[in-house]
Amino acid sequence: MPGYDLIVVGAGIMGLASAYHLKLNNPSKSVLVLDRFGAPGQGNTGRSNSMFRNTFTSSDNQVLANTSIDFYLHLQNELKLDIGLQLIGYLWLLSESQVARTERYVRGMKRNGIEVEEYSVEELRRLVGGVVTNLGDDEESSVMGLEDISGAVFGPKCGRLDPEKLVRFYANEFTRLGGKIAFKTSVEGLLLGPSRKLGIEGEPLVWQEAEVKGVRVTGGITGELEAKSTVVACGAWNNELLEPVGVDGHVKAKKRQLFSVSAESDGPLLSLLHTKGFNDLGLIPMVILPKSGVHFKPVSEERKFWIACEDEVNRPYINIPDRDLDSYRAEPSYYERGVHPVLAAYFPQFRNARPESMWAGLYAYNTVDYLPYAFREGNLIVVGGDSGSGIMKGDALGRIVDALYRERGDASLYGGVPYAVSKIGFERRDVKREEWVI
Ligand SMILES: Cc1cc2nc3c(=O)[nH]c(=O)nc-3n(C[C@H](O)[C@H](O)[C@H](O)COP(=O)(O)OP(=O)(O)OC[C@H]3O[C@@H](n4cnc5c(N)ncnc54)[C@H](O)[C@@H]3O)c2cc1C
Repeated sequence: MPGYDLIVVGAGIMGLASAYHLKLNNPSKSVLVLDRFGAPGQGNTGRSNSMFRNTFTSSDNQVLANTSIDFYLHLQNELKLDIGLQLIGYLWLLSESQVARTERYVRGMKRNGIEVEEYSVEELRRLVGGVVTNLGDDEESSVMGLEDISGAVFGPKCGRLDPEKLVRFYANEFTRLGGKIAFKTSVEGLLLGPSRKLGIEGEPLVWQEAEVKGVRVTGGITGELEAKSTVVACGAWNNELLEPVGVDGHVKAKKRQLFSVSAESDGPLLSLLHTKGFNDLGLIPMVILPKSGVHFKPVSEERKFWIACEDEVNRPYINIPDRDLDSYRAEPSYYERGVHPVLAAYFPQFRNARPESMWAGLYAYNTVDYLPYAFREGNLIVVGGDSGSGIMKGDALGRIVDALYRERGDASLYGGVPYAVSKIGFERRDVKREEWVI
C-alpha cells in the first residue's frame, strides 16, 4: 500500500491552508491532498459570498479572522499577488434594541484593538442615499416585524476577496514545496487499525488502542493509501468520514443561498453601488439589515449586488449532505417572498431588482458556539465547524492544524501572534459563543 507521512482530505480553504502550512513547516514529510472535485476550492469555498471581517463578538474569532486578514493583505499588498481583495467594510444597520445590545460587543472589540465605528441614524442617512430608516406605518413592514433603524456599526478592516484565487495560492505554494494533490479522488472511508498490530482476527479489538491508518479511495486513485497522520478538512462533509469511525464531527450542514442582482447601467441601484465615504474604492460596504441578517454586497466589476440572508430556524439541518453540491438549488421564491420584501423596505432602490443568477451551497455549523474547531485524536486531525466564516479564518486554522500535528501548545498565527490550540479543541475548549453570525 503506498504510504505518506500525511494525507489531507479536502482541497477547500481549510484543507489547502492546512496542507501549505504543514508542508512549509515539515518540509521533509510527504503530504498528499485528496479531493473529490477536479480543482481547488470547488466545494463550498467556491460558492461562498467570499466576504471577510474581523468584527466578531468572540475574541477568539477576532484573532483568527484578524490574523488571517493580515496574511491576505500581505499577499496582495506586499507579495503583489492578486487575490481580489477589496477593503470595502461591513456596515451593520441596527434597530433600537440591537443598538443597545451591540454596545457591549463594540466596547469589547475596541478593547481588543478591532477598529469599529458607530454611526448615528442621521450620519447614516447622510452617507447612504435612499436608505429608509423610519418605516412609518407601512403595513407590510409591520407584518414582517421590521423595526426602524436607530444606528449603525462600521468595520473598516472587512471586505471581499476572490476565494478561488486564494485557494490557488495555497495549492500552488504547496505543490511548489513538493506536496502532491490528487483531484477527482473520493475518500470512501478512513482505515482503522490497532496502534500495535498483533495479527489477531478482528483487530482493533475493544481493549486495543485504535488509530487511523490511512484512507480508502476511488476515482483518480483507487485502493488504500497509508498515512502516518490524516487530516480531515471536508467542511460540510466531515461527518461522512468521521461518524463511521466513532469520531464526532461536531458539524451540522445547512443550505445557504446567494442571489445576484444587476445594478443596471445607471439609476438608483448604480448610485447605491458607488456610495462614497466608507472606503477608498468609493463603494457601498457589505450592508447587513436589522432583520433576518438580510445582506448585500457590491460586486463593482460586474455592476452587481450579491444578496443573501441568514435563516436560523425553519430550514433543515443536514447531517451527511449529498456529495453532489448541485443537488442544493437556490429557490426563486425564497428571494421573492423572503429576502426581497425586507430588502426593498429598507432600500426601495431594490424594488424592481430580480436575480439574474442564483446558487446554493452549504454552511458547516458548529451549533454549540458557532466557532470553528480543530482537534486531534491520536494521529487524526480534524478541522471544521466554521459556521459560515471559514474563508476569513482559513489561514489561522491552517496554522493551527500544523501546530496540532507538531504537538505544539501554541500556534504562531500571522504576525507571530501566539494562539493556544486547545482553545478551539473539544477537551479543553475555551471560547465564548459567537453572537454575530450571518
Ligand atoms: C452561500 C455561502 C456563503 C458563504 N459566505 C462566506 C463568506 O462570505 N465568508 C466566509 O469566510 N465564508 C463564507 N462561507 C463559508 C465558507 O464557504 C466555508 O467556511 C469554507 O468554504 C469552508 O472551507 P472548507 O475547506 O472547510 O470546505 P469546502 O470548501 O467545502 O471544502 C471541502 C472539500 O472537501 C472535499 N471532500 C469532502 N468529502 C470528501 C471525501 N470524502 N473525499 C474527497 N474529498 C472530499 C470536497 O470536495 C471539498 O472540495 C459561505 C458559504 C456559503 C455556502
